[in-house]
Amino acid sequence: MKSLWDDAEAAKHADDDLAMRVYTSRLLGACEDLVMHGGGNTSVKGHTQDFFGREVEVLYVKGSGWDLKTIEKPGFPALRLQETRRLAELQTLTDTDMTQQLRAFMLDQSAPSPSVEAILHAIIPARFIDHTHTDAIITLTNNPNGAAIMADLFPDCLVLPYIMPGFVLSRQVHEAISDLELARYKGIILMHHGVFTFADDARSAYDNMIELVTRAEDYIADKHGATLPTAQHNANLLDLARIRQAVSAQRGCAQLAVLDSSPEAQGYAARTDIATIACRGPITPDHVIRTKRIPVILDEVPGPGVPEVAHFAQDYRDYFATHGNDELQILDQAPRVGIWKNAGSIAFGSSVSECEVITDIARHTRWAVQTGEALGGWQALPPADIFELEYWVLEQAKLGKRTAAKPHQGKVALVTGAAGGIGLACCTALAADGACVVGLDTNAEVVAALSALGGKGLVCDVTSEESVSAAITEAVRSFGGLDILVCNAGIFRAGETIAAQSPQTWSQTLEINLTATERVMRLAIPYLQLGVQPSILIVGSRNYTAPGPGASAYSVSKAGVTQLARVAALELAAAGVRVNVIHPDAVFDTGLWTDETLATSAARYHLSVEEYKKKNLLGARITAERVGQLMSVMASDVFAATTGAQIPIDGGNDRVI
Ligand code: ZN
Repeated sequence: MKSLWDDAEAAKHADDDLAMRVYTSRLLGACEDLVMHGGGNTSVKGHTQDFFGREVEVLYVKGSGWDLKTIEKPGFPALRLQETRRLAELQTLTDTDMTQQLRAFMLDQSAPSPSVEAILHAIIPARFIDHTHTDAIITLTNNPNGAAIMADLFPDCLVLPYIMPGFVLSRQVHEAISDLELARYKGIILMHHGVFTFADDARSAYDNMIELVTRAEDYIADKHGATLPTAQHNANLLDLARIRQAVSAQRGCAQLAVLDSSPEAQGYAARTDIATIACRGPITPDHVIRTKRIPVILDEVPGPGVPEVAHFAQDYRDYFATHGNDELQILDQAPRVGIWKNAGSIAFGSSVSECEVITDIARHTRWAVQTGEALGGWQALPPADIFELEYWVLEQAKLGKRTAAKPHQGKVALVTGAAGGIGLACCTALAADGACVVGLDTNAEVVAALSALGGKGLVCDVTSEESVSAAITEAVRSFGGLDILVCNAGIFRAGETIAAQSPQTWSQTLEINLTATERVMRLAIPYLQLGVQPSILIVGSRNYTAPGPGASAYSVSKAGVTQLARVAALELAAAGVRVNVIHPDAVFDTGLWTDETLATSAARYHLSVEEYKKKNLLGARITAERVGQLMSVMASDVFAATTGAQIPIDGGNDRVI
């Protein structure tokens, strides 16, 4: 473990303890092998003034919601130190009382709630305290000889058996250190949990952490040394979509399924002993709220309905029945991690960020499990301890207040013609409603436009079979499946009567508007049939129901896609895929219209441009944004019983009505 300490940088904070606390906290946070995703916590003791200007001794401790990697001064709420310390002298303290009292001891009530390990920070006398959940040391504690290895390797540390975090842990440490001269020790090691180092200066506390972790890493390298297995397989993406569908059904809502098919993930998934070693438990109970206790083990070719997911759920219910009680409510029974034989590791979650956290934990877990196995046997804490933490109210609170799920949360949408106009508006509306959106366009601006929406933009020519196939593959590889398809790409050339029409206008319009729509649908349908509430939306036109002169190719292409959609609705209903058409009209804020074409068209009706824009029964102005919002709603559960329908969005047109 390399020290990231930088004398020049540290010198800038020499006169400011809290700034120094921020600095070394970030050094710890910068290393994934020490802390991950909000894990670990740090503190510094000091003095400040209360409202009346009186000197108060305080503990600045990491607040919830902050990550050591990016923490700033406001991430350290100040607690009255004496009062916080006194809590450890109580024989018992409920979680509710602990949380309430810690908040009551805060000098600024608007600051974030202090870490649940705040009391522990208060009772260790040193000023700077660093606490990490380092992989290297915890891995060695997850071993049948863990206690002996710790005694050998860390004679200069106080090693304590595992106990649940929170008040009971503070109590355990309080009793262990009350008759000790703690300054003689380099650190405290909590079995299956993590490490505390401490000193009156920031550098020594940090250096001690690096030294202890390095010692564990060297031990592992010395005893184990062998590199971990790698492999290379092609994952079948239809099977991935099938797995995602089964997990979503079990969870009761759409889930993304992000595959890690790296050589390391595949090497782990290809091990013959994977089903046993992967299911002994997590590195540390802290991970359980993100990953559940164990992953689901999936066959390389999952059977119909992916029965492994149902078995996982049954096992989870058994685990709850064994360890739960009447006061607890069982959590959902869907897995968060899948180890897919040969193919790699899958993270299941409702958002990309949730899947990233799960992927990171899964990567660290496979290192720890295989290393532990090579060092005498991976042995996690018994299920009862994991359960206790999983159902601990303070741990559940870390997941945050659940906001109502957005209509497309966890769903994957693909939109063609996405760089601007109705296509981009549709991407915007779907993303706002929670979907992961993949936008396709020949215009490279699609990449930045979709990235701004948190989605993925791909340059794609819908007239090319290879290009469309590659884009759909990329969408499924990124998010695990496909639920919503919006066929929007199209061109419009007006002003040519049939007699005067160029052959190119006819052939290109039909190629892009009609044939490419069939192509995108055809290549997407196998994945949509494995989607969650799957839906296809076709952008038609008022020109289909109420054609005008001078746009025969366009009108025919829109009539063609409408008929295509009707047939698709008939063919796909049995698989639950809905197919609907919207017919927009007079959407003037798109690339199809220029000031010049608007003026020409308005003049044809003897109207001003403003009057022309609202030339409909309702006098409504129809924007791309409105069309996008309608399409997102049509892809939602609101329209669950509607297929084969055509819905105009034209402000009302007497020829259509
Ligand atoms: Zn901890």
